[in-house]
Amino acid sequence: MRKKLLLGNWKMNKTVSEAKDFALQTAELVKFAEEHNVLVGVAPTYLCLDAVKNNVSGMIVAAQNCHFEDNGAFTGEVSIPMLKDLGINWCLIGNSERRTYDNETNEKCNKKIVKLVHNDMVPVYCCGETLAQFEAGETKNVVESQIREGLANLCEKCISKVVVAYEPVWSIGTGKNASKEIAEDICKFIRDILRDMYGNAADEVLILYGGSVKPDNIQAYLSQENVDGALVGGASLKIDSYEAMLHNLVK
Ligand code: PEP
Repeated sequence: MRKKLLLGNWKMNKTVSEAKDFALQTAELVKFAEEHNVLVGVAPTYLCLDAVKNNVSGMIVAAQNCHFEDNGAFTGEVSIPMLKDLGINWCLIGNSERRTYDNETNEKCNKKIVKLVHNDMVPVYCCGETLAQFEAGETKNVVESQIREGLANLCEKCISKVVVAYEPVWSIGTGKNASKEIAEDICKFIRDILRDMYGNAADEVLILYGGSVKPDNIQAYLSQENVDGALVGGASLKIDSYEAMLHNLVK
């Protein structure tokens, strides 16, 4: 049976001391998550990874991005060996903000994902359509290309280690939620594509929903058969709200 996963994406928020402060308050919630068989994690900025990693126990600490080369003349970038050296084993790839502001294409995401998997790391691959694409009825075409191109060149064994997050761009940080029916429809659609690409290993892939998830709506998403968890921005920044989402998720 697939585990549930609650993953916070802190984006460009929190100083090192603020991140450390959050980390120091996680013991109770990690205990609760373990008792209820839920995986919990956060994705801080690169600067805060070490401070968070060193002050949590039993929590996933993910980077928000990585470069596909191991080293070289790539100013401002961080490589997979650098993350691994810090003990970081998870990494977000293709968040819509990176696709919008940093020219992150499906092809570029794929290079990073293949490299992460070969390094025994877990990529959390984000996909989702823009408002214009949603309104034009193009959601499934867009998501299908993102999945087929972004998750190409993996093996059946590797795919089960990948986490996918469906995040309709029009619902990210806007307070406009996709309905639980839309979330289920697209998450199931993603699983069907993965089954077509990699066979029954698709049933092991964790597929998350993301986009204005909050304590009062997380349970509705998580009650859907193909939604295995949530990738949460704004509501993951405060420990109280993070804890409330975890408690509501298992109800
Ligand atoms: C995100 O950036 O992954 C996200 C889902 O943000 P928010 O929860 O704030 O909409």
